[in-house]
Amino acid sequence: MSQVQRMSRLMVKTLRDDPADAETLNHKLLVRAGYVRRTSAGVWSWLPLGKKVLENITRVVREEMDAIGGQEVLLPALLPKEPYEASGRYEEYGDLLFRLKDRKGADYLLGPTHEEIFTQTVKDQCTSYKDLPVILYQIQTKYRDEARPRAGVLRGREFQMKDSYSFDTSDEGLAESYALHRAAYQRIFERLGLDYRIVSAVAGAMGGSKSEEFLAPAPAGEDTFVDCPACDYAANTEAVTLALRPVPGEGHGPVEELDTPDTPTIESLAEHLGVPASATLKNLLIKVDGEIVAVGVPGDREVDLGKLGEHLAPAEVELVTAEDFADRPDLVRGYVGPQGLEKVRYIADPRVAPGTAWITGANKPDTHAKNVVCGRDFEVDDYLDVVVVEEGDPCPACGAGLKLDRAIEIGHIFQLGRKYADSFQLDVLGQNGKPVRVTMGSYGIGVSRAVAALAEQSADDKGLCWPQEIAPADVHIVAAGKALQTELALQAAGRLAEAGLRVLVDERAGVSPGVKFTDAELIGVPHILVAGRRAAEGVLELKDRRTGERVELSLDEAVAQLS
Ligand code: ATP
Ligand code: MG
Ligand code: MG
Ligand code: MG
Repeated sequence: MSQVQRMSRLMVKTLRDDPADAETLNHKLLVRAGYVRRTSAGVWSWLPLGKKVLENITRVVREEMDAIGGQEVLLPALLPKEPYEASGRYEEYGDLLFRLKDRKGADYLLGPTHEEIFTQTVKDQCTSYKDLPVILYQIQTKYRDEARPRAGVLRGREFQMKDSYSFDTSDEGLAESYALHRAAYQRIFERLGLDYRIVSAVAGAMGGSKSEEFLAPAPAGEDTFVDCPACDYAANTEAVTLALRPVPGEGHGPVEELDTPDTPTIESLAEHLGVPASATLKNLLIKVDGEIVAVGVPGDREVDLGKLGEHLAPAEVELVTAEDFADRPDLVRGYVGPQGLEKVRYIADPRVAPGTAWITGANKPDTHAKNVVCGRDFEVDDYLDVVVVEEGDPCPACGAGLKLDRAIEIGHIFQLGRKYADSFQLDVLGQNGKPVRVTMGSYGIGVSRAVAALAEQSADDKGLCWPQEIAPADVHIVAAGKALQTELALQAAGRLAEAGLRVLVDERAGVSPGVKFTDAELIGVPHILVAGRRAAEGVLELKDRRTGERVELSLDEAVAQLS
């Protein structure tokens, strides 16, 4: 039974002007069209129209996850700190984590992603190889205290994520679960009507072997990726950097442990730098005595530079700025974009223990040194080999000139391997009666971010413009006139709803047709049906929101065409 939503009863207040603080299209339009309302920085309320869109995306995701045998669960967002301590991520996440205490003083956190808790759940529920493989998923609220929660619902501090986790007893099994997810993601993003690319990412820091990102090209995107016009190579900047200039020692060479007492931790390094918290990078390039060195940050974690510490002493440490490597592209490992230094990343070596910062550029080539203090245990040399990815750089696969583009990360799939299973000793009894260590995958979709991505990709100068399956209604009927028009509009609404369509009807009294048209275009339902000038003859006008094409038709014809 489909419903008719009357505009006169809908809680929606459209705005003519963009909110003052809005920089991105999705932010402006979702606020102006009354889909969302900002509650605090990066925290959003979903109003009736927005909730419908969110629900539609959720439904598509759920259907496709169920189709690959995923079992839906709902784990808590309020989590004790112990499991995250066991994995090392309580430390690693740093300021990204929302931390809180209960009344007894016990430490809790609000879940940013749930590998730990899923691992524990499976450890508790699955004991034999016969219980595996298993794919579990949830669609749930996540919390990350992002340093720059701008861009509307694109980057929230509270946001909706579909996260799933696969558990297998063999590498082949993991590859299969990964392939299932990859295919499901393709179906999901296709159904959502998103233009997207699958790009290679680097699994390194998460401890796995394979990782890909699903990126939706859009100028508002915060990610940069390369795309080859001549072959199917596509990668994020991190992966292409590694492919273009594999640095010896970067995830290849042995890790040399120098067990010196003054292990530089992220926290200790931070303080020393004394730089503003707004300078947040995934990994750091810093200068020591005038030389640039890279400090790798374990884990997929953003670092608050305000927290780097004292252990690089006595060397002088300062933050590298874009100018520092303007004439030394050979020294920069990362990406310099139109706005200067946008993202500095370097390939974290999974074998370096979480919680420690380490420094590449050790005195020995092909070596990652851990627990070293720069300037004391080694001198910085030009061993640091760094790449700036630029438009036109050769494609690592075919040599053609690469294209560089901005995109929104809408999904991410990971072969995690046994990192978390090791942390929690997740074994099941194997066929031969011996315990087998479980191997895992983890897979995320930004459900609320997808709303923003869709808005970015589909909107035009008049407003939002949703694909049918995602739109808050199938048809938006406008009563453009007096009682006669309203009557026809309501009649049409009833008929279309009977035919199974989701109908929004603008029968507001005392609102001019002009305002109603503007609102309809701003709200972005794909079909706009107008009861106007020729209402007396029972003639309606059907307008395609995207193309602007109009046809006049009878109510019967409208029902036939729309259903
Ligand atoms: P980003 O690089 O944009 O910070 P991420 O790589 O940290 O994202 P993942 O840990 O891979 O994110 O999480 C899985 C998915 O969750 C992402 O692909 C993205 O679509 C979504 N997501 C991550 N952070 C946010 C956020 N702050 N707001 C909305 N969606 C997010
Ligand atoms: Mg992030
Ligand atoms: Mg990312
Ligand atoms: Mg990611």
